[in-house]
Amino acid sequence: MSVDFQQLAVAGVRGLKPYQPGKPIDELARELGLNEADIVKLASNENPLGPSPAIIDAIQQQLVELTRYPDGAGFELKAALCERLGVSASQLTLGNGSSDILDFAVRVFVNQGDNVVVSQHAFSIYGLVTRAVGGEVIEVPARNFGHDLDAMAAAINDRTRIVFVTNPNNPTGTYSTRGELEAFLAAVPEQVLVLLDEAYFEYAEVEDYPCGLDYLSQYPNLLVARTFSKAYGLASLRVGYGVSSPVVADLMNRVRPPFNVDSFALAAATAALRDDAYLAKSIAANRQGMVQLVAAFEQLGLSYIPSVANFVTFKLPDGSDDREVNQQLLQLGVIIRPVANYDMPGYIRVSVGTAAENQTFIDALAKVLA
Ligand SMILES: *Cc1c(COP(=O)(O)O)cnc(C)c1O
Repeated sequence: MSVDFQQLAVAGVRGLKPYQPGKPIDELARELGLNEADIVKLASNENPLGPSPAIIDAIQQQLVELTRYPDGAGFELKAALCERLGVSASQLTLGNGSSDILDFAVRVFVNQGDNVVVSQHAFSIYGLVTRAVGGEVIEVPARNFGHDLDAMAAAINDRTRIVFVTNPNNPTGTYSTRGELEAFLAAVPEQVLVLLDEAYFEYAEVEDYPCGLDYLSQYPNLLVARTFSKAYGLASLRVGYGVSSPVVADLMNRVRPPFNVDSFALAAATAALRDDAYLAKSIAANRQGMVQLVAAFEQLGLSYIPSVANFVTFKLPDGSDDREVNQQLLQLGVIIRPVANYDMPGYIRVSVGTAAENQTFIDALAKVLA
């Protein structure tokens, strides 16, 4: 007798579709017989600058400790975060990427049959981790591709445990202003957690963009998630953190696997926080790359969603098929991200690369659309 393991899986997991990551460079190289060096990947909002020497040095110094378990409490990294952010260690939760933080929050607060509120066109991980525990997802229609925070607050019901707010949002690059966020925080019932995902915080340079940490003292139901994967350039190492009230952080740390952040990630993130020059360079390069991409879209007559992050989403001309355009770009060695699965058929998200990578993408796109 064969066992049907599909039926043995918990109900929430049975219906899940795995997260679709950007295609890795070596996978495309294998498929097309291309040189990895000839491929440009602008599909996962990674930092295009490569690692800074300070990070490589920090990792090298850790190599002799390879046989030891990491510091499960992350003392040094937490100390560096406290200094940088002006928070206390009791407010911090370290994650294997900030994806861990989203997952912990759901595991701590969402019972089977509870729900979370998300925006249309929001990061798919929120729904994935919620459904896995038998939670439901209330999706609120976007307004001009951004979060409609008034409608999100109004969608909260008796079974709502978490509202996910992504600022700036991925994949749209839109942001909620200080005034919008403040009105929202005031409107959310105090027993509902607001998970403010600030994965792209460092890139948002607009004047009315709010810093979530400013509201922690006023709102014990606020949890801010940040990552080292984007502006700090450590995506491969998997390290992020949550900042919240100590009570929430304590609960988060109860479900956190004890060694979820490894020694290399801890050392690299600690060094990255002190590497102001790299961060400034990342942000400046992004600003220039965004200008380059937007100018190209205008030149090509393509409409795009103005973005304050390190990627921009544009609309293909009517009648062109996003899967077809994607395939043709892949043939030319350019990996981007169609976002049809984010309820945006006909749109493509491109991460800001180096000037040369951006140009390769622009040339390939012009060729495909010609
Ligand atoms: C990239 C990203 C994250 C962070 O992912 P990590 O797990 O930290 O690599 C979180 N939220 C959003 C919206 C993202 O785009």
